Parts: sequence; C-alpha cells; structure tokens
Amino acid sequence: MLHEHLTQKLDAIAQQHLTRVLRTAESPTSPHQIVRSTNGVGQQRLMFCSNDYLGLASHPRIAEALAEGAQIWAGGSGASHLISGHTLAHERLEDRLSSWFAPHIPQARVLSFSTGYMANLAVTSALGDSEAEFFSDELNHASLIDGMRLAKAPVQRYGHANVAELRKLLASSTAKIKLIVSDTIFSMDGDMGPLPELLQLAQEHDAWLVLDDAHGFGVLGERGRGALEHFDLSSERIILVGTLGKAAGLSGAFVAAHERVIAYLMQAARTYIFTTASLPAVCHALLASLDLLEGEVGQQRRRHLLALQRQLRKGLGDLLDRNAHLGWQLAPSSTPVQPLIVGSNDATMVLSSALEAAGLRVPGIRPPTVPVGQARLRITLCATHTASDIDRLLDAVEAAVQRMEGA
Ligand SMILES: *Cc1c(COP(=O)(O)O)cnc(C)c1O
Repeated sequence: MLHEHLTQKLDAIAQQHLTRVLRTAESPTSPHQIVRSTNGVGQQRLMFCSNDYLGLASHPRIAEALAEGAQIWAGGSGASHLISGHTLAHERLEDRLSSWFAPHIPQARVLSFSTGYMANLAVTSALGDSEAEFFSDELNHASLIDGMRLAKAPVQRYGHANVAELRKLLASSTAKIKLIVSDTIFSMDGDMGPLPELLQLAQEHDAWLVLDDAHGFGVLGERGRGALEHFDLSSERIILVGTLGKAAGLSGAFVAAHERVIAYLMQAARTYIFTTASLPAVCHALLASLDLLEGEVGQQRRRHLLALQRQLRKGLGDLLDRNAHLGWQLAPSSTPVQPLIVGSNDATMVLSSALEAAGLRVPGIRPPTVPVGQARLRITLCATHTASDIDRLLDAVEAAVQRMEGA
C-alpha cells in the first residue's frame, strides 16, 4: 500500500516535470569537476552551481589541515556537546569567531553547530516560544521556515524586503518578544536584505534581529566577516547564523549572539542538545580556513570574485540588450549569486539542458522554489573561476539562444 501511494506521488512530481535528479561527482569540488552522466560515464563539466564561493574547498591548505586534524583528533566526537563531545577544537573555533563578531555584537559569544540547517532550527525553535512572534521575509531560506514551523510563536510574513509592511506589522504586534527573521543575501535572487533598516526597526520596536548569513559569510566585508562587517552594524539585538559549508569550504555552522542568548540556546536548542558534536578534525581545519578567509588569500579572492561578477553582468547585459524580445532579465544582484530570470519553466529547462550539452552545469530553478513565472538559471560564481570560464558561459548562452530561436 505504501509503495503504491508513493508511486502515485512520484508520478505526480514527474508529470509536473519537477523530479529532482541526483548526480555523482567523481572528483573534488571545483569549477572543473568530473560528474557522472546518465550513461554512467564521468564527464568534465564547467560548474556554475556550487556555494564554494572562495574556492577554499579545494585549497591545498584545507586538505592539509584536515589531515593534521585527523592525526590529532582521529575520528568522531563520540557524543553530543553537553555529554562529552565538546573538544578543544570546538572551543578554539568558537573563541575565534567570538572575537570576529565582538565589534558587531556586544558581549558576543558563539555556539557551533553541525550544519546551518540545524543552527537555524535551533535559533527559531528555541527563541520562538509562546510569548514570541516572528516577522519573516517571504523569501527566507527553507531551514528558517521549517524552524518557525516547529516553534510555538506565530509567524507574520512580510513581502520581500518590504520595510514599510514590516513596520506596520511590528507596530500592531502586542507580543512580548518580537523576532525579525531575514536572510542577508537571498539564496535564489542574490540580492541583499535591507539590514540597516531592519536593525533600525528592531531598535524602534524593541525587537530582535535574526540574520542568516549563509551566503554572506566569507564573501562580504573587507576581511570576509560577512554582512555585519559589510554594513558596519553593531547591536546586542543581532543574532547571527553563519554556515561554514559554503565560502569557508568545509562544513558546520555557528550562531553568534549576546552571551545571554547563547547561554539559553545551550539549554534549550534541541538541535544542539540531541545530536553528536561535529568532527573535531573539521573544527581544526576550519581554523585554517578562517586564516585563509580573513587574510591575503581571502582578500585577493574576494577582489577576483567582484571582477568575475562585473564581467558576467556586462556580458549577459549586452546579450539581453541584443535579444530584448526574449524578455529575460538579469536579477539586480551584487553578490556571487547571479540569477538569469527566464520566466517560463520550459524555456528555463531547455536553456539549462543546452548548457549541459555544451559541458556546463548551470541549474534551472523552477516553482515552487521561486514564484510562478520567474523560473531562472541560478548562476553562482567562485573565485576559482577564470575570465575565460566566464567567456565560455557567455558563448554557450549565446549559442543556446540562437538554437532556441531557430527551433
Ligand atoms: C545553505 C543554507 C543554509 C543551510 O546551511 P547548511 O550548512 O548547508 O546546512 C541555511 N540558510 C541559507 C540561506 C542557506 O543558503
């Protein structure tokens, strides 16, 4: 019975052309990666889809630090943090990040998590008690949405980046604890949330500001400390979640907040308490990653990323001008997430397939992940891309457009 039930559901997904396909990589994360194709053969692909924005996942120092960490700490942590899994490696990572965020969050402390998904569940489900209320941007990441569903607090959704609507909602709220929740860089649009305005509203309405800096950490700010450094924000009202699986090139996550908030999360966050602490070897390697990220390597790579962004936007902008009748649009993004909004699901998937046939992997994103009529290519850039990689992408899009016109 269960199998029949599931077959029906799988068929329904397939009929809407929404089946997601798993692809196996046969070489390490990199812009040039061997990916197994449907006929079972590994093929070199030019990738525009990973979140390894600084290219640190394949940096030799990271592999070396991981090996070193494994020599020192061997395998697993053996238990959750509060039982016996918390090691010196976790403590050093947390202390290091605490010092990074001290200028932005008075009396900052940091708690480490195994993934960003779990860190977001921790913050939302623990702080969103029955006396609280959430104010959530409609384009927030799935992990924040899931966490708010788990929480007791009701959720008021506001239109994307709509500060005026948020202000009205806050003004009419009688909740004792008000929690504004927003991504810093929105994952499917690449735009930045209006963080200074959100913080201003938090101050005016005695609210707290939960920020998910998954795509900003390592990418934004002179030293890569993320959105708080970029906007030069400082407030004890900020509760920042960052992931270490994207620009930091490894895995893990953290929450940075005033020490009172962290003390409570340790006691109440179920995704902190009831899960095995992450590998200490990974925490050891993360310290090396943070060195790279804030130092000369990170600074040079962030500059290169900006140059790639400019090159891509110029090239796609020209291409869209020449083909204005297509009605495609380049999203107004100043980050490594550069969506090309095509509109229809079909055209998006035809374009993505044409690029795949030319040896490039650029995922098409369709509803319900994005609004109906706004299907898009989600192009992500990494500092390990070269100018000629971008040229190849531009040429392949041009060729695909001509073939689609001819068809
Ligand atoms: C990737 C992502 C997460 C989840 O982080 P993981 O460490 O991959 O679990 C959370 N929020 C946003 C906005 C993300 O893009």
